[in-house]
Formats: sequence, C-alpha cells, structure tokens
Amino acid sequence: MKILEERIKQDGVVLPGNVLKVNQFLNHQIDPDLMLDIGKEFVNLFGKEKITKILTIESSGIAPAMMTGLLLHVPVLFGRKKKSSTMPGDVYCAHVYSYTKKIENTVTVESKFLNKNDRVLIIDDFLANGEAVSGMLEICQQAHAQVVGVGIAIEKSFQGGAKRIKDQGVHLESLAKIASFDNGQVQFVEESK
Ligand code: 5GP
Repeated sequence: MKILEERIKQDGVVLPGNVLKVNQFLNHQIDPDLMLDIGKEFVNLFGKEKITKILTIESSGIAPAMMTGLLLHVPVLFGRKKKSSTMPGDVYCAHVYSYTKKIENTVTVESKFLNKNDRVLIIDDFLANGEAVSGMLEICQQAHAQVVGVGIAIEKSFQGGAKRIKDQGVHLESLAKIASFDNGQVQFVEESK
C-alpha cells in the first residue's frame, strides 16, 4: 500500500531491537484518514468473506480495526491485556509475549462476544514474531469461531511471524512489508503499485 509505505518512510523511526516507531500516525497520535484508507484496503482484500466480527488486541490494533469494522458494519472486539473488574469469569484467554514491552500479557475476551457462528477477521498494527496473532487465533479456537483471515498494517517480513501464521493455513495479508532496517533505513520487500 503505497501511501502507508510513504508515510513510514516520512515519519517512521528505526529504534534498536528492530522496532519501528510510528508514533506520528499509528501508535500514539493517530491519522484517521490513513486509518480509513487502511480499513478500505482490508475491505478490498477480505470484504467477500461474510465477516461477522473484527478481532484485535488493545491498544494499537484498535484504530485500523475500528475503520474496517465501520466499513463492514460489524462489531470490533479487542482483547484486553488487563482483566477488567467488570469482566465475568466466563472468558477466553491466551498468553501473549509482547515484542515491544518484553513482558507476557494474558489477553482476555469475554466469551459472550465470540462464538461458533462468527467469521472473524483478525487485525493488528504490526506483525513481528506472530505472538499477538497466534494469541488471537487461539482465542478464536477456544470460541470455535472461524478465522477468515489476518490483516496486518505493517509486517516485518524479516522476522518469523508471517511464516508462522501462513504455515497454519491462515490467509494473511500485510499492507506494508518491511524487508530490513539495514543502516537504520526502512527497506520494503517490494514496491507497491
Ligand atoms: P508479534 O506479536 O508479532 O511478535 O509482535 C506484534 C505486536 O508487537 C504488535 O501488536 C505491536 O504492538 C508490537 N510490535 C512488534 N513490532 C513492533 C514494531 O516494530 N513497532 C511497534 N510500534 N510495535 C511493534
């Protein structure tokens, strides 16, 4: 997705540990127009799948997930990293090791919001080693919900996540694919049209 790549080139900062900081438009300040374009792209890619629900993890997955849900007119469900006191005992949960925070989170979803009739599109901001997406796949499995695909805004293709997800037969689409951060510069896998 050309405009996402251009925005990454313009505002992205490569940090130590192969972390890309995109606080200008996604991870802190959010550009709603760009998020809407991302949502439209996910609708182009997955719109025919009769999706009933979008699933993401708080917090940075929520913005692109929300736009996609708005365009498809389906609810957006996000896994919570801290169990809320208003949450009942009946939950699905998965342990997710955070790439950026280096801690393990227990991601929780109330079971009443996901069931065997759901056709789920999983969305996240980044794909690195695939921990977050694997956690969401696990939650869908617990709910016996069908995952129709995984949509990622920024995939770091030089890390293992994409292979890990595709090897499970999951339809994965990433809008910007990063090949490397050599010399602190973002290099994309291929130029988008
Ligand atoms: P994974 O679970 O695939 O290893 O990592 C994906 C998750 O970690 C995403 O939900 C995202 O929040 C975070 N993450 C991984 N790599 C990066 C990165 O380079 N930059 C930012 N901002 N977040 C990242």
